[in-house]
Amino acid sequence: EITDAREVALQVFNNFKMIHPDFVFLIDDDLGGKTPVKIYRNHLEQVLIILMDNAVKYSRKRKEVHLSVSKNARVVDLAVQDFGEGIAQKDIGRVFNRFYRVDKARSRDAGGNGLGLSIAQRLIEGYHGQLTVESVLGQGSIFRISLPLINEQDTVQDNRVVKD
Ligand code: ATP
Repeated sequence: EITDAREVALQVFNNFKMIHPDFVFLIDDDLGGKTPVKIYRNHLEQVLIILMDNAVKYSRKRKEVHLSVSKNARVVDLAVQDFGEGIAQKDIGRVFNRFYRVDKARSRDAGGNGLGLSIAQRLIEGYHGQLTVESVLGQGSIFRISLPLINEQDTVQDNRVVKD
């Protein structure tokens, strides 16, 4: 399935805006234009929901979430940034592990099982993309989805395959 990554990102972004009126949501989408990627729409939507949901869950003080959409010739990048509690360097390598939660006592009341990010990363890698994180403890985090763009030629070829 060919999905416009920007379009899905904008849709999830608008839903979060409605659900969390106490947060400031900012979008940085400088390019416009299409960003076709080969992924099931629901899968990309699910991953974005996991990242946006975490951004909200782990922001206590500064209730602000930024989404940015950018692309180069090969990939589209969707970045979800928060200014919340952040992740210590010693923990950052494990946040994508199943059932891993940084601070069990502290994060219990935030809900969850520690599954969201591991599922998100598996999904994205299943489509030859990458899900990475940069974070500073006490300052916030950026989770970045990178997915290969498909070019026009691939699209034509794909349609032919489907028709056959
Ligand atoms: P769920 O299974 O409901 O997603 P979860 O949020 O605990 O629960 P993950 O989404 O896999 O699980 O996240 C794993 C851990 O990584 C979290 O428990 C939290 O400690 C840390 N984490 C994830 N996102 C952020 C974030 N934006 N800021 C700070 N810590 C985060």
